[in-house]
Formats: sequence, structure tokens, C-alpha cells
Amino acid sequence: MGNPHVLVVPYPVQGHVIPLMELAQCLAKYGIRITFVNSEYNHELLKNESALQAANIGDRIRLVSISDGLQSMEDGNQAGRASGSILRVMPGKVEELIERTNESDSDKISCIIADQSIGWALELAEKKGIRRAAFCPAAAALLVLGFSIPKLIEDGIIDENGTPTKRQKIELSASMPLMDSANFVWNCLGNMEAQKTIFGLMVRNNKSTKLTKWLLCNSAYDLEPSAFHMAPHILPIGPLLASNKLGGDSTGNFWAKDTTCLEWLDQQAPRSVIYVAFGSIASLEPSQFKELCVGLELASRPFLLVARSDRMLTDGTNGEFVEEFKDRVGNRGKIVSWAPQQEVLGRSAVGCFLSHCGWNSTIESVSNGVPLLCWPCFADQFINKSYICDVWKVGLGLDKDENDKVTREEIKNKIEQILETKEFAARALDLKEKVMNCVKEGGSSHQNFLNFVDWIKMA
Ligand code: UDP
Repeated sequence: MGNPHVLVVPYPVQGHVIPLMELAQCLAKYGIRITFVNSEYNHELLKNESALQAANIGDRIRLVSISDGLQSMEDGNQAGRASGSILRVMPGKVEELIERTNESDSDKISCIIADQSIGWALELAEKKGIRRAAFCPAAAALLVLGFSIPKLIEDGIIDENGTPTKRQKIELSASMPLMDSANFVWNCLGNMEAQKTIFGLMVRNNKSTKLTKWLLCNSAYDLEPSAFHMAPHILPIGPLLASNKLGGDSTGNFWAKDTTCLEWLDQQAPRSVIYVAFGSIASLEPSQFKELCVGLELASRPFLLVARSDRMLTDGTNGEFVEEFKDRVGNRGKIVSWAPQQEVLGRSAVGCFLSHCGWNSTIESVSNGVPLLCWPCFADQFINKSYICDVWKVGLGLDKDENDKVTREEIKNKIEQILETKEFAARALDLKEKVMNCVKEGGSSHQNFLNFVDWIKMA
């Protein structure tokens, strides 16, 4: 028998590749060999990332690429289209990869760790007789929502396609975030085709997840006690962040990080800066993006804004607008196209994070004790916002007006409120401490992780 050799298969978008890469690196530190599967397109983007090369601990992590049937990242960012294509193309390619690896490598693939959102990889592992585990890079609450689909249908809250029968707020259990049926993860994607694809996938993934006893989650008991109580078989091992262990930044980034913002941050007063970023996919309508900028200007405080060079800027006339805006705000505002986010959040100058509430951004902020201003756009971001504002109480939502828009006054007022109300910072620091206790040696997440490593090594 050879050494343990794990095939890690992320869903091929940024917010999944970063945490699965983090998991791969944690395993590699325990001497486990990893083959990490990227789509061809993402592989090209990652190939030159120097941090990734440096972190490939003694060459234990091998990056390989396969086709996902998509032409570009734009395609990949359209949830329905991407998932459909991935489902058609990737399973066959991963199977070929396993066969090729097992023919040529003395260490045959002994375990597959599949992103929970691609349950087919668990089905493939079962077919090939390979041990398997699922990893969810989102909140446990999202998994619990998925597991609740049959009950939601039975109770008449949604129909067989996932469409809500009426708009209502539901609570899966006490102290779980309130969920608005209009914002269920599958039905806030903008079109019926995407809804059906994602809903169908969630139903299928629920079944596939039963093919393993290891359902790991990038969360912590102290963050989501009720969700873990409802589904005790989900094992939290997070937050798995490069910054927790190394004081550094994430690897697996598709864009080059502009580190000049760190020097700029170091010149700002403690807890004074508003950090603004919307992750890798969410974008604002051009008019809302402008409103955001004007709101930041009105707030008269230093800010660091990530304006990705894709849709967020290129729609309409935003490119020109940003240049003018930069001139207007001068050194009070720093605008970059991709930031070393974990390092930014670790800097003492950051006072709050205005975020779209992707799960990675959420736990990165929480792990650094930074309060949040929430502007969720789609998918699980509404659940995460509810955790932040209603359950943990470490942030405030940006409310929309009667025209369904966030106004400049709302942005300015909430910035003032979050920075001037000491309780937000105090609660954020408390939560940080709890979460750090989970990941340190002897903590619950750490112990779950060690048990998992032992199981992999038993191969
Ligand atoms: N990120 C980054 N620099 C940026 C913006 C985002 O490194 O300028 C990283 C961020 O740290 C997080 C990931 O990209 O790890 C985004 O994941 P998240 O779940 O927050 O959002 P998604 O992109 O999936 O919507």
C-alpha cells in the first residue's frame, strides 16, 4: 500500500477554490500528498501565483487541470449555466484523471475530498471504490437548509421546483438565522433556469452527501450552535484561514493582489478605515456603484475600495467615473482591483467591512474582530447577513428604500453608526476570541480536523 494521496475537487469558482486550497495546505502540513483539480481556465489564472508556489509545502500539492466545459470566468459566474456545464463535462474528466494517476503514480488516489456542492464527485468515488469526504466552504446553516428541502415542500413553503408559495420568514430552529423565502439560496439567482438547476443540484447533493460519513464545514460550533445541533453529523473544522496560522494571506487567487493598499492602511489611524469589497462574483448596477462611492465620500472617512476590473466597473460609464472619483477623494480613498483581503482585515486601521457577505468574507471579518456593514446580493449571502446582524450582532444591514435602492444617506448614516457605537467593535472582538479558541490546539475545530487527518492516514 502507498502513502495517502488525496484528490481535492473544488467547485471551480474563487470563493470555493480559496478555502479548498486552504484545506489542502492544512493536510499537506501533516505529510499528506494532494492532487488539486482546477478547471483549465482557473488553472491558467493560478499558475503564476507566487504565494501558491511558495505554499506548496515540499511539493506535496500538485495542481492539475481539466475542462469544465466553460469558456471564461464570466460563464463560470452565471450560476445556472456553470453548474449545468460542470455537471456535463467534469465527472468524465475527473474519472480519466483518477485512472491516469493510478496507472502512473506509486501512490494511488486513496481518498477524494469533494466540494459539497459537487456531490457527483462523491458518487464517482463510490463507483471507483475510493474513500471519500465532503467539504462545505459555506455556513452549516446552508447545509441545514438543503437538508430541510423535503420538509419545506411538505409544509407547503416551496413547491417541487423550489418556488416559494408565498413570501414569508422562516426559522429552521431557534437562534438559526431568519430566512426570507424570497431569498432562499436557489431562488434569488435572477432566472427560472438557474433556480431549477441549483435547486436540483442541492437535492442531488443532499443524497450524495450520504455516501460519506465525513461532512466537513468551514465553520465553528461557536458560530452556529443551532445548525450543528440540528445536523450533528456536520463537523466544523474552521475557520480555515491562512491568516489564522501564518499571519499571511490566502492562496489560490485568480487576480493579482495589489499590496500597495497595506502601506496606505498603515498610515491611517486605528479603526478608522472602511474596507469595501464584494468578493469575486457579486456586482452592483452602475448607478448603485456610483451611489456607494458618493456615500463613501459623504462619510468623510478613509476608505479602501475593491473595484474589480470586470463587470463592477466596465458596465456603463463606471470606468471613467472611477478615475474622476479617485481624483476627487485623493489620498482619503484607496481603490484597488483586488486586495490581499485577509491581511487587510488583520490591519488595526480597519474599522469596519462593507461586504456582500460571502461566507469567506464573513468568517475572515469575524476572525479578525472587524464589524460588518451588509449589502447581500444573492445566494447564501442573505443567510450570512442574518447571522451577522441578528444572531451575532456584529454588524448592520444597509436597508433599501421604496425603490429598492441603497441610498448615499443610508451608507453614510450606517458607517457613522457602526464606527461610533462601541458595542459593535466589542461584540466583534468577543466573537473573534471564541472563534480563535475553536481553531487553536485543543479547540473543537482543531480536534475535528486532527480526527479527519487520522482517518485519511488509516488508508
Ligand atoms: N478576496 C480577496 N481580495 C479581494 C476580494 C476578495 O482576496 O479583493 C477573497 C476573500 O478574502 C475571500 C474570497 O475572495 O476569501 C471571496 O469569497 P466570498 O465567499 O467572500 O465571496 P464570493 O467571491 O464567493 O462571492
